[in-house]
Amino acid sequence: MKIGFIGLGNMGAPMARNLAAAGHEVQGFDIAAPAPEGVTPAPSAAAAAEGAEVVITMLPNGDILRAVADEVIPAMAKGAVFLDCSTVDVESARAVAEQATEAGLLAMDAPVSGGVGGAEAGTLTFMAGGPEEAFGIVRPLFDVMGQKAVHCGAAGAGQAAKICNNMILGATMIATCEAFALADRLGLDRQKMFDVVSTSSGQSWSMNVYCPAPGVGPQSPADNDYKPGFAAELMLKDLRLARQAAEASGARTPMGAEAARIYEEFVERAGGKGYDFSAILPWLAGELGEKG
Ligand code: NAD
Repeated sequence: MKIGFIGLGNMGAPMARNLAAAGHEVQGFDIAAPAPEGVTPAPSAAAAAEGAEVVITMLPNGDILRAVADEVIPAMAKGAVFLDCSTVDVESARAVAEQATEAGLLAMDAPVSGGVGGAEAGTLTFMAGGPEEAFGIVRPLFDVMGQKAVHCGAAGAGQAAKICNNMILGATMIATCEAFALADRLGLDRQKMFDVVSTSSGQSWSMNVYCPAPGVGPQSPADNDYKPGFAAELMLKDLRLARQAAEASGARTPMGAEAARIYEEFVERAGGKGYDFSAILPWLAGELGEKG
């Protein structure tokens, strides 16, 4: 397939490289980052999009996505697919999809989970929103870049699934870290707490798979001085998107809002920027900077 790839950062570069390695013809553009191996650099976003059957964007936020879409959509051939894999607000995702559809394109939002490691290994999970026809066309590309793709519904449904998932993740990580900090004060050994909770009703992905306590449970960023992993500021971004979507839709999400507030404090005022999102534990335990 002929593919235009715009946004060749930490995630976009390995995704584009994997597509090229699988035999696709990939033209890439980024305002700052170089084109990875196998990807032909284009002089502009519009040039990368010209003649492409699929244009993939992997950009920092909704405003940048809207600006890039304004430039790229008029350059695309009718019937081509505009596939946005960035994590952005649901409103921007829907607005861009509408604009693309009006221009005679097929549009799909497909944010990912799996992080930079998943992008490099080609094991991302895609959460897709948009017409069935678009999903059918881009499915082979999802198979190259990832191990799972779920078609969640119409435009914006992929972003909705992503922020709902990460709202749960943020809240459960905080609760798990709080429980360890409380256990410390109560003289309960962290390993013993893990042994109980990971097999009891308090279990979660945060406890069982990504345990925030060093030396406890499977290997996780806690065992690597809380180097990300999934950076706290990226969790904050997703929790803000969830809060924004809750406000716009009138959904009541008090726990999600509190999780956003706690990550805001951690990242912006408590020195948590640059640490993994599980570093809430050393922060609460008064050990951030010592262990981190
Ligand atoms: P990044 O900052 O490394 O990459 C974004 C790239 O976009 C940069 O190279 C930047 O130069 C480029 N860019 C900005 N404006 C541009 C423009 N107008 N035209 C062309 N290129 C432009 O970010 P990332 O970590 O690769 O994340 C990309 C997206 O994926 C974000 O929406 C993020 O939330 C999401 N995401 C990231 C992770 C992760 O672990 N990094 C995990 C899941 C989802």
